Amino acid sequence: MSVYPSAQFLFSAAAAAQFPADSGAEIAIAGRSNAGKSSAINSITGRHALARTSKMPGRTRLLNFFELSPGKRLVDLPGYGFAEGRPADRDDWARLIDALAARACLRGLLMVVDSRRGLLAGDETLLGWAQGLELAVHVLLSKSDQLKRAEARTLLAQSEAMLAGRASAQLFSARTGVGLDEVRGTVDAWLSAPGS
Ligand code: GDP
Repeated sequence: MSVYPSAQFLFSAAAAAQFPADSGAEIAIAGRSNAGKSSAINSITGRHALARTSKMPGRTRLLNFFELSPGKRLVDLPGYGFAEGRPADRDDWARLIDALAARACLRGLLMVVDSRRGLLAGDETLLGWAQGLELAVHVLLSKSDQLKRAEARTLLAQSEAMLAGRASAQLFSARTGVGLDEVRGTVDAWLSAPGS
């Protein structure tokens, strides 16, 4: 099991020109606002205040780049509450993620979905985008500690049926650590995969 003791926030980017060099390996992480994305980043990295930066005023609409270890990065996408706002905001969001998608170093997308809500329309939009890019997607059904065991099992089965092979899925709780080894395994595998 690996954690990233040297994980650090690199910087925020508002445009492709500000992205780091397109080398090494990168994973994007996305989710509806409040889905538990920051908590997931902190758990996966084992660094409990790391994602606080992404919540700073002015940074919530930017892509926030974290370095997990040299050449391995996690890119925190703006919560899609933002993308569902004004059409101009939607365009900004689409431009940013299209620029990210064009990078050869992008290996996969982690989608954080609140277990109490399940997959919603905004999630489907993002999934469609990732599919168009043939990008691997792994869905974290977050806050699974809020569900009874049987409910959680049902949610996972329903989500897998909805995803229909387009993405893998798992239960996850930043609070209890359920699913942590599993998501770290996915992150490690993606970041270690050879470039395309
Ligand atoms: P973000 O907006 O997607 O980055 O979400 P946050 O990580 O800030 O979490 C949003 C809210 O959900 C906060 O009140 C967290 O304490 C709560 N939360 C996050 N992860 C969990 C979890 O695993 N279990 C429970 N019960 N609450 C969680």
